[in-house]
This record gives sequence, C-alpha cells and structure tokens, in this order.
Amino acid sequence: MKTSCQVAKAGVTRRGFLGLAAASAVIAGSGIAGCSPAKPSKTDADAEQAQTALEIAESEIKETKEADVVVVGLGVAGVAAMRSAAEAGAHVIAVEKTSIANCRSNMFAAFNCDTARKLGIPDTDPTEIGNELMTQMAHRADYRVINTWLKHCGEAFEWYTGAYKDLLLLGPEDAFPENPDQIYLYAESVGGSTYRPGIDHEHLFAACCCVGSGDGTHRPILEANIEKALETGNAETVFDSPAVKLETKDGKVSAVVCKNLQDGTYTRYTASKGVILASGDYSYNDEMLQKYAPWVYAHKDNYLFSHEGMDCKGNHASTGDGQKLGISVGGHLDIAPHAIMAHIFQFGVENFIELNERGERFCNEDLSMTNIAKVILNQPGSKVFQIIDAKANDYYPIDEMLPMMRGSDGETYSAEA
Ligand SMILES: Cc1cc2nc3c(=O)[nH]c(=O)nc-3n(C[C@H](O)[C@H](O)[C@H](O)COP(=O)(O)OP(=O)(O)OC[C@H]3O[C@@H](n4cnc5c(N)ncnc54)[C@H](O)[C@@H]3O)c2cc1C
Repeated sequence: MKTSCQVAKAGVTRRGFLGLAAASAVIAGSGIAGCSPAKPSKTDADAEQAQTALEIAESEIKETKEADVVVVGLGVAGVAAMRSAAEAGAHVIAVEKTSIANCRSNMFAAFNCDTARKLGIPDTDPTEIGNELMTQMAHRADYRVINTWLKHCGEAFEWYTGAYKDLLLLGPEDAFPENPDQIYLYAESVGGSTYRPGIDHEHLFAACCCVGSGDGTHRPILEANIEKALETGNAETVFDSPAVKLETKDGKVSAVVCKNLQDGTYTRYTASKGVILASGDYSYNDEMLQKYAPWVYAHKDNYLFSHEGMDCKGNHASTGDGQKLGISVGGHLDIAPHAIMAHIFQFGVENFIELNERGERFCNEDLSMTNIAKVILNQPGSKVFQIIDAKANDYYPIDEMLPMMRGSDGETYSAEA
C-alpha cells in the first residue's frame, strides 16, 4: 500500500471522505522488485558475505534451544509467519531485536473477499492489477509473487484480521465510531478510486481496507495474532534478542544465534524445518541504503521509513540484518536499485494546489503519494507549498495529518492560515 493516513474523524461519513489523497486505495510494489530472481555478480555477493561473517566462540553460547521453525523478527510478516507455522503444528520460536513486536501500517490491499464486499469494495479483475503493477515496476518484479498475492490477499487478510474479535466493519455510509477504543475496518476512497481512462494519470484500484485504531496502526490486530499463535501452545517469543548469525549443516540453515541484549550472552536456536527471515528492511543502514536506494539516501531525512523501532540500547532496528544474514550463508540481494518502503506525506493533491518555490505548478498532480514524493524532491530546494483553505479542517483531516508531515528540512510542517 502506498500510504497510511490515520485520518479517521468521528462523525464523518465514509462518503464524505473520498478526497483524502490520490495515494489511497492502491497496491504498491515497494519491495517486490527485491523478489526478482536476478543475481548480482559473484564478486559482489562474496564481498558482502565476507563483511557479514561473525565469529562467536562456542563458550560464549550460554544455551541451545530446539525448534522446528525459527522466525527472525516480529513485524507483520514475522507475526503472520509465526502464527501460520504454529497453527500448522510446528514448534516455533520467534526472536525479536526490540522489546516489543513492531508495526506501522494500517492499510491492507484486500479484494474479492466477503470482508472487502461488506466494506463497499467492488470485486476487481486481478489480472488488471497485476499488469498495472508490472508496468509501474518496469517489469523488474516477479509476476509469480504478485500472482500469489493477487490470488490470496483476500483470504490472508480475513485470516489475519479475523484474529481480532469485535472488529467493527463500516460500510460506505457509516459514521466512524465515537468510542476511541473501538477497532474498526473501513475502505478508503471506494468511489474516488474509480479509474477514468483518458482522465486519470495513474490507475488506482479500489482495494484498500484500513484499520481504525487509537495509535493509527493495526497494532491491536498484530497483538491478537501473537495471542493466536501462543494459544496453540506451539509458539514462543523471545524479545531483546537480535539474530546475529546463521549456522548451516549439510548445506541447509540449521540454527540461528541471537545476542541477548540484556546480558550480552548468546543463545543458539536450532531449526529442524527452517528459518524464516522477517527482519524488515535496511532503512537505518546508511551503507545499504546508499548502495541499493541511492535516491532515497540522498533525501533520507525527508522520508518516513518502515518502522522506527529501537532496541533497548537505543539503536534503530531496521538495519538490514536479515538481508546480511542471508548473504552470509550464500543468499543474494536483487541488483540495485531496489524499491523501498519510504513515504513523504502531504495533503491530498486533488484538494489543495501545490506550487514550487517559484510559484509554478510542477507536475501532473494526479499522482499517488510515493510517486509525487520523488517529483517534490526534484523541485528547487526540494521544497513545495500546498495552499490550504482556512476552513479545510471542516472537510479534510488537516489536524490529524499534520504531525506526520515533514518539511524539506526534516522538520514537521507548521500550518499557517
Ligand atoms: C509511514 C509509513 C506508513 C506505512 N503504512 C503502510 C500501510 O498502511 N499499509 C502497508 O501495507 N504498509 C505500510 N507501510 C509499509 C509497512 O510498514 C512495511 O511494509 C512493513 O512494516 C514490513 O513488515 P515486515 O514485517 O516485513 O518488517 P518490519 O515491520 O520492519 O518488522 C521487522 C521486525 O524485525 C525486527 N528485527 C530487525 N532486525 C532483527 C534481528 N537481527 N533479529 C531479530 N529481529 C530483528 C525489527 O525490530 C522488527 O520488529 C508503511 C510504511 C511507512 C514508512
């Protein structure tokens, strides 16, 4: 998904909300290019491997624990993997670098399923979406991965959100709940995302289900999924324990070694069936960011990254550990440049005109948030202005969105009437 605008306003009907952002209700391919089977040259991979190999003396490993499956990282991917493996009967140990599970998102692409229909999202032709994504990603993505997602996103969404009981479903005409503790699902820009050939620049699809919750993420649902996994009696979570080394046996990954951040010791987790690396991206690893996403690195202070979790020592969590661990046992990363999950928020372009500092309009404004971010950064001083109606708060959630905005200097925007 391209954006996560936690903008629900109590008392606003769903239909009154269509103008949110051109970015809404779309499925983005960020990261999917990373699934392409293209291999970098052997020299590159070898160089990376050499950098990431870590020696740990056997005497430093204080304990060995056995599992069928070890999941590295408890973000949305790791939590889903842990629950899925536990429900399939595997004994799972999930290790996490920070002290909590992490999530940032609140929007899910889900279509052709009962929940989406109840939210007002019409059924859609998956092939059209797949073709559009491949075009937008210059055919660098792996269509097999996209196709799997196209086929199963509705089913996966219902399984994942189904972990949370008492989820309220809002149809297009329903008002947002007044109770701040009520977690709910609503569809973003259902009518507003209808594609008009010859008029609309980007092809958006109505397929976006959003979670409404107090902190603007889907955390209550994430935690309900952890509970579901633990309820099976097959799963265990270990926090403050970054995976620092993969071990192999007979050409297969057989164990993960984690550092216990609280006392500096190491624990080995053996995995008889497999290890799932779900440790997120490398947003906070400058070297990798510069190498694989140089255009993001050049403006990194302007971007919001996937999740800004910190470990208990005050270090950022998203440092590309999983990628480096994979490389250390013979894996490879896709050839640069990578698609990366990074946003610059702005108010909906269809509501408020944007001008650069010379007072010029600078692009076709009918762009989704990820794409217009790049255009903004190319303007003089990497700066643009959105002119906002003084009464905009009556029809647009300006106040809710302001804290998410960052100016070209990395500071949060201030509003001036
Ligand atoms: C501002 C913003 C808004 C977004 N909104 C949406 C949205 O609405 N919808 C959407 O679909 N996507 C959204 N995204 C993207 C979404 O946040 C990411 O795609 C998603 O979080 C990726 O999930 P993940 O589980 O792969 O990785 P992560 O969420 O990054 O989780 C990885 C986990 O692994 C842990 N970890 C890291 N290293 C180690 C290690 N060595 N050992 C053990 N654990 C480790 C981390 O602490 C973390 O808990 C948004 C991104 C941004 C920047």
